[in-house]
Amino acid sequence: MDMNFKTACVTGGAGFIGSHLVRELLRRSMHVTVIDDLSVGRRDNVPAGAEFVHGDVLDPQIARIAARSELVFHLAARVAIRSSFEFITEDVTTNVVGTASVLRAIATAPERRVRRLLFASSMAVYADADAPVPLAETFRLEPISPYGVSKLAAERLVLQVCAQTGIDACVLRLFNTYGPGQAYSPYVGVVTIFSRQMAAGERPAIFGDGLQCRDFVHVDDIVQGFMRAMARARPGAVFNIGSGSGLTVRELHERIADVLGYRAAPLFAPAVAGEVRHSIADIGRAARELGYQPTRRFQESVADVVREVVGGNHGH
Ligand code: NAD
Repeated sequence: MDMNFKTACVTGGAGFIGSHLVRELLRRSMHVTVIDDLSVGRRDNVPAGAEFVHGDVLDPQIARIAARSELVFHLAARVAIRSSFEFITEDVTTNVVGTASVLRAIATAPERRVRRLLFASSMAVYADADAPVPLAETFRLEPISPYGVSKLAAERLVLQVCAQTGIDACVLRLFNTYGPGQAYSPYVGVVTIFSRQMAAGERPAIFGDGLQCRDFVHVDDIVQGFMRAMARARPGAVFNIGSGSGLTVRELHERIADVLGYRAAPLFAPAVAGEVRHSIADIGRAARELGYQPTRRFQESVADVVREVVGGNHGH
């Protein structure tokens, strides 16, 4: 079912995951338009060859630009879970109303070009899991952070509006993504945070007891998930995209410390409201329906990634 798209728009394409995705689309000789307000993303993150539009997806004029492509990847969002209580209005505005804005533009465009929309959702839509077991897409949807609520509302809007207007939509629930090019912020991306802090001789803080599990998935595999969903997903489908296995935050700290030859013990800080205890992807559906298989196991790729993160100059 290769749909043979020639034009794509990536909202949030100047960000971490978006810029990797854009690079792959360009490699496939597609014409790519990036929409990004550069609130987090950076202009020089946008791969050469993509058309760049600086603007906010909430602006109807900007959202209308997305409606000119055959394929839309909607990634623009405010991502930090931890700051999600403080910035609840901004998060909901960007993540929910921003998605509605893109949908309206696509659905009401005079000439309907968009055939498929892929939405970057998150593991944050799931209820808290009390055991470190992989969660299937059918697991309870009961987000414990406003960020998770905003992602769930947005994915529901995407599926509903697209079904009603005859656009193929697909939701990818991404797990903890790591890899080169993630902007450094104290709130998002624990691999980047630990690596940068250890390299600078600072002591990273582990929130809670550090025995919480996370599914760390390399950005290359996230891109693979998007590419497979672009070509093969059945309309209305929802897929977890992760590595399929979990690592505790303590183990993560140890692995990164080993790579950097860092000796100090971690600091422990109180657990943070809104963060789930365990989060591991069951990737069976993506494997069966899309042929998705993670190619980069954390244990094997951690050394390269930590060096990439520490060596790169991204966002610091
Ligand atoms: P990111 O912050 O690097 O990318 C988001 C981009 O969106 C940024 O470049 C930002 O400038 C842009 N943006 C924000 N608000 C905008 C607006 N109103 N209009 C236009 N552009 C706007 O984050 P990322 O990690 O690359 O995340 C990409 C997507 O994947 C997000 O939707 C996020 O919710 C989702 N996701 C990420 C992870 C992860 O671990 N990184 C996990 C699950 C889901």
